[in-house]
Amino acid sequence: MSDRTTKFLLSEDQIPSHWINLLPELPGGALPPLSPATMQPAGPDDLAAIFPPQVIEQEVSSEHEIAIPEPVREALGLWRPTPLFRAHRLEEAVGTRSRIYYKYEGVSPAGSHKPNSAIAQAYYNQQAGIAKLTTETGAGQWGSALSFAGAMFGLEIEIYMVGSSYDQKPYRRSMMRTWGAEVHRSPSDRTEAGRQNAAFETGSLGIAISEAVELAAQRPDTNYSLGSVLNHVLLHQTVIGQETIAQLALAGDTPDVVVASAGGGSNFAGIAFPWWREKQRRGLGTRFVATEPAACPTLTQGVYGYDFGDASGLTPLLPMHTLGHGFVPPPVHAGGLRYHGMAPLLSAMVRAGEVEARAVRQNETFEAALTFARAEGIVPAPESAHAVRSALIEAERADEAGEERTILFLLSGHGHFDMAAYDAYLAGDLEDPEFSPEERDRALAELPAGAPAIA
Ligand SMILES: *Cc1c(COP(=O)(O)O)cnc(C)c1O
Repeated sequence: MSDRTTKFLLSEDQIPSHWINLLPELPGGALPPLSPATMQPAGPDDLAAIFPPQVIEQEVSSEHEIAIPEPVREALGLWRPTPLFRAHRLEEAVGTRSRIYYKYEGVSPAGSHKPNSAIAQAYYNQQAGIAKLTTETGAGQWGSALSFAGAMFGLEIEIYMVGSSYDQKPYRRSMMRTWGAEVHRSPSDRTEAGRQNAAFETGSLGIAISEAVELAAQRPDTNYSLGSVLNHVLLHQTVIGQETIAQLALAGDTPDVVVASAGGGSNFAGIAFPWWREKQRRGLGTRFVATEPAACPTLTQGVYGYDFGDASGLTPLLPMHTLGHGFVPPPVHAGGLRYHGMAPLLSAMVRAGEVEARAVRQNETFEAALTFARAEGIVPAPESAHAVRSALIEAERADEAGEERTILFLLSGHGHFDMAAYDAYLAGDLEDPEFSPEERDRALAELPAGAPAIA
């Protein structure tokens, strides 16, 4: 390939045959989720009311690799393998000596990495005889992904959309309804959790999760589906990193640093976990940087402990970095990064020092998004723009140190439904909302009593 090759493509038969499961090799070992009633490890029974058996198996699996069912691989083939780009134009625009690559997940029908797990979850629920899935959505990306997956596997989909996004992103709603889903603004008056949280007008992911879980727990033909955080979701995303390993081999390069945004942790894990395993096998010096919004700095300003996954305390307690389940993040435009907690697998990796965390502000993030769009053409989702900003920070630091780094980042989605946020930035109206340590401390004071402290 020439020095100027920009696109590294794989053929359809190079879609990975297995997912990569880091659970059995997690540095420091894996802590179990706890049942809030007993403070004992939550067993499969605690999850059986809302998840199908195969998903529960994956949640606790000690297999290092799990075969991807053929119908899932076939559906993924609608858009996978996704392209890897060498960002020559971006490198020139910022004048760096480093090489920047990005893996692009925005080519999926829903426009992000999220269908990688939505397709798998829809398949397993259909196999289990489930008629309907409920879920929450923040920015609308997960809701779109599950609506698309429901259409592929003949399932009804009912969605609770975080209020601020519901108002800001009418076309995400239209998209979900186009695929046949029912969409409600959260907090809604359809659930106990919604009615209890009616005062939080703008809503939050935590509240929307409570609404969706409540409904699924009540009906035998209905399950719940989560777009991030849990082990099985991170597992399903590992097709991203595996493809990227094959693509960088085509480029004859290896990353010095792998960067992605982190909301619940799934796109980050998707690209980073396969590379982390590759690092152990090949003795690479690769660093990993999870990047979050300064307004919702779960990894950099949260505590590592047991907390609920939702706002109302319906889920098992998860061992994770958290700002407190009652923390309602300011309404930044990266709706998919407004979550109080973080995936237990990613939290454990940060805790073990295997993954670094970085927080970036909203305005610098949009500035990076514009630089990227003007150089590479793609308009990033605001969530993905956090990875762009973080990759550019890596390039700046390398230049300052007189180094040449190979920087790999994940562009998790496109921003075609986020143009109101771009308008606000272009008009100079975008805020950098302050993170409130006082509010975090108030929320942390409400961590579930009796849960063991994690050293
Ligand atoms: C949902 C979303 C994220 C954040 O969620 P993770 O589980 O952390 O990946 C990031 N980027 C895009 C485009 C998303 O839709």
